[in-house]
Amino acid sequence: MSTPWQRTAEGANLLGPDGSLAVTIFEEITTLANRHGAINLGQGFPDEDGPAELGRIAQDAIANGNNQYAPGKGMPDLRAAVAEHQERFYGLTPDPETEIIITTGATEAIASAILSLTGPGDEVLTFEPFYDSYGAMIGLSGAKHTTAALLAPDFMPDLATLEDGFSPRTKMVIVNNPHNPTGAMFPVEVLSEVVRLAIKYDAVILTDEVYEHLTFGPRHIPVATLPGAADRTLTVSSAGKTFSFTGWKIGWLSGPARLVAAARTVKQFLTYSSGTPFQTAIAAGLRMDESFFTDAAATLRRKRDILSEGLRAAGLDVLPSQGTYFINADTAGLGITDATGLARRLPGLIGVAAIPVPVFCHPDGARRTRSLLRFAFCKKEELLEQAAGRLATLKDRM
Ligand code: PMP
Ligand code: GLN
Repeated sequence: MSTPWQRTAEGANLLGPDGSLAVTIFEEITTLANRHGAINLGQGFPDEDGPAELGRIAQDAIANGNNQYAPGKGMPDLRAAVAEHQERFYGLTPDPETEIIITTGATEAIASAILSLTGPGDEVLTFEPFYDSYGAMIGLSGAKHTTAALLAPDFMPDLATLEDGFSPRTKMVIVNNPHNPTGAMFPVEVLSEVVRLAIKYDAVILTDEVYEHLTFGPRHIPVATLPGAADRTLTVSSAGKTFSFTGWKIGWLSGPARLVAAARTVKQFLTYSSGTPFQTAIAAGLRMDESFFTDAAATLRRKRDILSEGLRAAGLDVLPSQGTYFINADTAGLGITDATGLARRLPGLIGVAAIPVPVFCHPDGARRTRSLLRFAFCKKEELLEQAAGRLATLKDRM
């Protein structure tokens, strides 16, 4: 289950089951993987750097003395590049002065949006499974977290019952598309229904589109492009995924000026501003030729196929992934009913690390996903093949 977000008499929010500070499951599994020398298909980060030319631009920026605070809302050139990118790919035309801020990764964009716009008495609806920081930030804001289930194997919501998740208190609905941890991509019918309900219940849409370019067939549809959506939609993205520089922590938030301004009031007291030399490099990244973006997706698609084949050969039931770094596999066929327990044993058992899907859920969702593991395929092809070989030994070692 996802980390329990509680307030205690001491004011601590982040408590593990034993009352201690909880470390995110990503961190926990990476630590276990390192301890056992396992192939880490857990935490989603590539094992190869992004474009060397972007690295050189960041190095030059450091060498040339671009090392002091950037403006709080981000360097003008990067805000302009985000706007150009949105126009080039989606026909959107945000004003870089008032409708875009640069953040310390998508994580800070998400935190700023949730903390600035929701609080006690409000409800925030997410799909479930949900990326862990949504649950954490809703908990910190004091709002109530409600969920709408995404059901295997294709992880689509039931449109006939989606409205049950909304109420007059729904202040925000969070969309994540392409979706972590499932790799699902919502078609236009699903996104349009979310927009229709957000309008009906007067909710803000926060849409996390960090995997916008990492798709394997379907075209990515930004929520903000749908009729009626732009005026209530905050869009989040990040350079980490698109450019394989997850450690640079450069993200951005765009949307109507009043909502972006609200998020900025929080952002300025979280980090104030974000890494100056990296902003210069990412501005160049966003202006790269279209072929860079299509090649990145094609490479990742090949890796997805290698890992899916390996997982299938290992006797696991592989669920479809249309985008992101991730693919889910069902271990029920091996008799597993506790993917979280298995994920903690896996690095020691066979030298492979994966993330259990129940940690992206509240208790009901955790029951529904209790046998699912999420594997990251943003790794070198030979490593994926090696991992598949190790996974094939799993059924004999249980
Ligand atoms: N949202 C989703 C869906 C993610 O998967 C991630 C990171 N893997 C983030 C947000 C955070 O992105 P960043 O590293 O840019 O903070
Ligand atoms: N977003 C990454 C994942 O889903 C992890 C980032 C983190 O460790 N917080 O694996």
